[in-house]
Parts: sequence; structure tokens; C-alpha cells
Amino acid sequence: MSKNFDAIIVGGGIIGTATGYYLAKRGLKVLLLEKDYLTAGSTGRCITGIRQQFSTPATIKTAMESVHLFRNMRDEFDMDVQWSSSGYLFLAHDQEMASMFQKNISLQREFGLDVRFLDAGECRSLVPKLNTEGLVGGAWCPSDGQADPFLVIRGYTTGIINNGGIIRIGSLVTRIASENGRVRSVITAGGDSYQAPRVLIAAGAFAREAGQMSGVNLDVTPERHQALITDGVQYEKIPMLVDYRPDGGYFVQRLTGQFIGCFTPEKQVPGHDIDSTLDFIVEMSRRMCKLIPALEKVAVLRQWAGSYAMTPDGSPIVDETEIKGLYCAVGMCGHGFMLGPALGKYLAQFMTEGSWEIPMSEFAYGRQFGEMEKMK
Ligand SMILES: Cc1cc2nc3c(=O)[nH]c(=O)nc-3n(C[C@H](O)[C@H](O)[C@H](O)COP(=O)(O)OP(=O)(O)OC[C@H]3O[C@@H](n4cnc5c(N)ncnc54)[C@H](O)[C@@H]3O)c2cc1C
Repeated sequence: MSKNFDAIIVGGGIIGTATGYYLAKRGLKVLLLEKDYLTAGSTGRCITGIRQQFSTPATIKTAMESVHLFRNMRDEFDMDVQWSSSGYLFLAHDQEMASMFQKNISLQREFGLDVRFLDAGECRSLVPKLNTEGLVGGAWCPSDGQADPFLVIRGYTTGIINNGGIIRIGSLVTRIASENGRVRSVITAGGDSYQAPRVLIAAGAFAREAGQMSGVNLDVTPERHQALITDGVQYEKIPMLVDYRPDGGYFVQRLTGQFIGCFTPEKQVPGHDIDSTLDFIVEMSRRMCKLIPALEKVAVLRQWAGSYAMTPDGSPIVDETEIKGLYCAVGMCGHGFMLGPALGKYLAQFMTEGSWEIPMSEFAYGRQFGEMEKMK
């Protein structure tokens, strides 16, 4: 195998594979190195949700572009990735939350998003099984949706290979070497060395370590998040319900009829530990049944855990670093599956032409971290 490439990607999750695909489609010779197996990181552990309801311009635009790409994947990959526009309903149980959603809706609508505020009665009509006790209303976007991450990754990786790229699994990158401020090569634990003028760090929860092995500082901290999936029941297109209350959570009905969901723990669990706990199943089941009491009769099938790769302001870091040709797309903060396709497309343009499709200063490397993304 030749050891010279146009671009080397470190990481086989949604970010690495999407970017690799759009680079390979532009005719670049791509090498993707993954330390475990494709989808081993957070991408294979996510709860499949794809939404456009965010609170900042770049995130809203990126998510809208991603939805456009997800919708077209059946044609792009000639394969069904189980895309479904099943919607997201953010629930407001007090006026403060309702006002925050309404403010975000105004901004989102400026970008043409089909989002609106529903009163409690309209929420009940949309989801008849929803417990609307104490509900003020909800932010509803019918074009948000879900897709199968394993199929999406299969689409992107098949595309990389069909466009002449190479994927190596079981290849732990241990060093990214540069010379005179310019990236030169990538070295693996097996002692292989590959050269390229462009290297992308897309290492998910291991971004900080990947930065350290390259001599750049990536302010990304992994946090454990747990999830579960139930047995399947009749499909009723129950959208992703997002309940931000301290004892709330997020869950959606998959096309299989199963419910998949998670919640953000009150006390964060930083680090690379992704063990799952019994407490989580009990608590998550309770939270799901509180919102949809009919779920009391549905059994939990499986549980697992994965990492959110967090940055101090809740937005990703997607940029070139101070080392010429060394790029990063890290710190997806729990939104990487939904943002991944558009970020991959934008990055492919940036890494080849040096210009962004949309203003990306919100995601700049080396920015001053400011206010936290509100729709987190
Ligand atoms: C429980 C849970 C639910 C979630 N739900 C959603 C959701 O509904 N919607 C959504 O958009 N997001 C969701 N997320 C977040 C989403 O999964 C992540 O943001 C996204 O998958 C990140 O993609 P990535 O490509 O950056 O990282 P990853 O998928 O983690 O991929 C990074 C890859 O890099 C590899 N790697 C790391 N270091 C090296 C190295 N040195 N050498 C070689 N390979 C390396 C890793 O093995 C890994 O496979 C959820 C996450 C969790 C944990």
C-alpha cells in the first residue's frame, strides 16, 4: 500500500467518515484510521435523533443542511438509512422555558425552519399518549427526525472505498508529526507511518489525547451518558420528546416501534468510563413512563453508555489548528450525529479550497469560550 495520501482522517465515527466521504468525492486520496471498529465510539451509541432547533446561527444552519443531506441519503448511497421526519417536540412546563423556546423559534424561523410553538392542547393532539399535566406548550418542528447511525456510517464508508479511499480499522494513531509548522505524517501503534498534507482529528471523546499527540490543545472533556432501548410496540410516530426539567429526558419511537432514549445526569460523570448502571434503567424507565404512561407495559430490551465530547461553551471546534494542514472537528457536545453530515461537507470544502460554505466563527479553534448553547 502506498504511504502517501492527500488527506488522513483520525477516527471512524460520523465526523471522520462523513468528511472522508466528501473529500474522496472531490477526488482526494483519503486514508481513514480507526483504533477500534467503525461506529465503536459515540456514533454507535447515540439515540439517533436529528434536530434543527438550536439557538445560534451556525448550529441552526449546519443542522438544516444536515437534514437536507439525511433526506437525500437514499439516493446518494442507493441505500435506505431509515431516515424519518418524525419531528422533535421540546416540552415547556413553565413560562420561562416557553419564553426561551419562543425566542429561539423567532431566530430559527429567520433561517426558514418550519418550527412553531404549540399550546398544551395542540401537544396533546399531536401525541395523544402524552401526559400533559402541568404542560404550558412545546416547540414543534416536524422536519426534525431520526436515522440509523450504523446504516449512515455504512453509506459513508462504502462511498469512501468506492471513491478510491482506504479505511484501516484496529489502527491506533499515536503521533501526528509536523515540520516547520506544517503537518507531515501520522504514525500508528503498529509502527506504520503515512504522509499527507492534510490531517483531520475526528477522534470524538479522545480529542484531547489526539491533540496532545500533535502538539495542539483541544479543550474537550468526555462525559458519560447512558441510554436504553425498549421492545417494539405498534408504531405511532411518537416524535423525540425533550423534557429539560431536572427529572426529564429525551426519547423517540424508532421505526421498529421501539423507544430509544437517555437523560443528562444531574451530576456529570467525566472521563472515559462507559460502564452502564442499574440505577439508570430504573430512573430512565420512570421518567419515560411519567411522560407516556402507556410505556409502563413495555419492557426494556438493552442499555449501554457512551461519551459526550464536551467543550466549555457547548459548541463544536471545527477549524484548522495553528499547525498548517492539521484540522480538527471535535467536541460535538451530544449533537455530532445530527451535525456530522453537514460538517463533513463543509470541512471537505475548507480542507481543499480554504473557504467555508457558511460563517463558522462560532466553531473556531482558539475562540474565547462564551455563553453556553441553550438548546443543549
Ligand atoms: C447516549 C448518547 C446519546 C446520543 N444521542 C445523540 C442524538 O440523538 N443525536 C446526535 O446528534 N448525537 C447524539 N449523541 C452524540 C453523538 O453520538 C456524538 O456527538 C457523535 O457520535 C460524535 O461523532 P464523532 O465522529 O465526533 O465521534 P465518535 O463517534 O466517538 O468517533 C470517534 C472515533 O475516533 C476513534 N479514535 C479515537 N482516538 C483515536 C486514535 N488515536 N486513533 C484512531 N482512532 C481513534 C474512536 O475509536 C472513535 O471510533 C449521543 C451520544 C450518546 C453517548
